[in-house]
Amino acid sequence: MSDITKFIFGFKRFQKDYFCDDSSVFENLKEEQKPRALLIGCSDSRVDPATLMGCAPGDLFVVRNVANLVPPCENDNGHHGVSAAVEFAVCSLEVEHIIVLGHCNCGGIKALMRKRGGEPSGVFIDPWMDIASKARDQVLTELAGREPQVQERACEQAAILISLENLLTFPWVRERVEARKLYLHGWYFDFETGELFSYLPETQQFEPLVPRCR
Ligand SMILES: [Zn+2]
Repeated sequence: MSDITKFIFGFKRFQKDYFCDDSSVFENLKEEQKPRALLIGCSDSRVDPATLMGCAPGDLFVVRNVANLVPPCENDNGHHGVSAAVEFAVCSLEVEHIIVLGHCNCGGIKALMRKRGGEPSGVFIDPWMDIASKARDQVLTELAGREPQVQERACEQAAILISLENLLTFPWVRERVEARKLYLHGWYFDFETGELFSYLPETQQFEPLVPRCR
């Protein structure tokens, strides 16, 4: 079966589930969506948020990009796709949670770490990954001389914290967080072990949210 045929068969299964067998989900969603969470994830094919979180249509508002990054708020009339999606989710949909979901073996973070050695990754990838350059610099200082895998994992996690910090540069995010109407979460999926981690400000560590299965 070709890749495209596989996708068409997949859609037929989806159509059967949601339009032939039980049409109630889209009956309720056809006028408007009311997701309670915005998830900012990586474009990586191994970390599809709806698959990972067992979501149905309407459950999650999703932004995906290289390395699940959020840029800081910049009012320069540029084409800010991530910022526009965050604005819509927060101000119009009034989501109650924003989850930044990072993951192991992230190609974007690998590119960021390589750039330090002067190897360019792409005309668009390099300036995009500059958002997380502070994470790279911090890791290379704190974990100088460690194995690249250890540095990359630390950078993947530090970059999640930068995205959380950058979310707070949007005034309408900060206001809602301070008013406890909006909660920010930093999650990290390790697909080598199947674990999900969550950043705990109290310990300043990523702690297991869902430990590995036995
Ligand atoms: Zn990634």
